[in-house]
Amino acid sequence: MNSLADRYRDTWRRLGISRQSILERNLPLFEEARDLRVVEVGSNGQAFRLTPAAADAWTAMKAAAGEEGIEMHLVSAYRSVDRQAGLIRRKLDAGRSLDAILEVLAPPGCSEHHTGRAVDIGTGDLRPLEPDFDRAPAFAWLGVHAHRFGFGLSFPRGNAFGYVYEPWHWCFSETGDRSFRDFESTARFP
Ligand SMILES: [Zn+2]
Repeated sequence: MNSLADRYRDTWRRLGISRQSILERNLPLFEEARDLRVVEVGSNGQAFRLTPAAADAWTAMKAAAGEEGIEMHLVSAYRSVDRQAGLIRRKLDAGRSLDAILEVLAPPGCSEHHTGRAVDIGTGDLRPLEPDFDRAPAFAWLGVHAHRFGFGLSFPRGNAFGYVYEPWHWCFSETGDRSFRDFESTARFP
């Protein structure tokens, strides 16, 4: 077992998540980003943080979209492992089954949001984190232009990781390689 899996094991155990279930889904493990900066503040005052490179890319992409009349804003950016665990705990406490929760939330340590490069994007008054984001002009714009800024759609329909389709979730890669499996911060299970 590698060190990241060791580090996250207790968090998984407290939530009832088995290491085997993560192994079977072939989920990558991510380090928490250390170098982060506030890139945007939400209407409720929430500060969204990204790595400096991802922050620059997001800012440039948002501006480019804005010039074409497409409004985009952050709904979520960096998220710590503890925060991810807290989100899962809250749903468990509300009576949701672990399996159902893990279709919409990555296990702690497995969320791209830990890297400080993933963004959940909202647009206009559209309800955030809903599949009909893919009918918004912002989604069409992203499909054409996001790659120029280093962003790629992480979880298309039928993705191999067992997550629901997430048209709002995009991830930045400094290398221009949009496959998050190739991020250098990713540790694979042996
Ligand atoms: Zn996301």
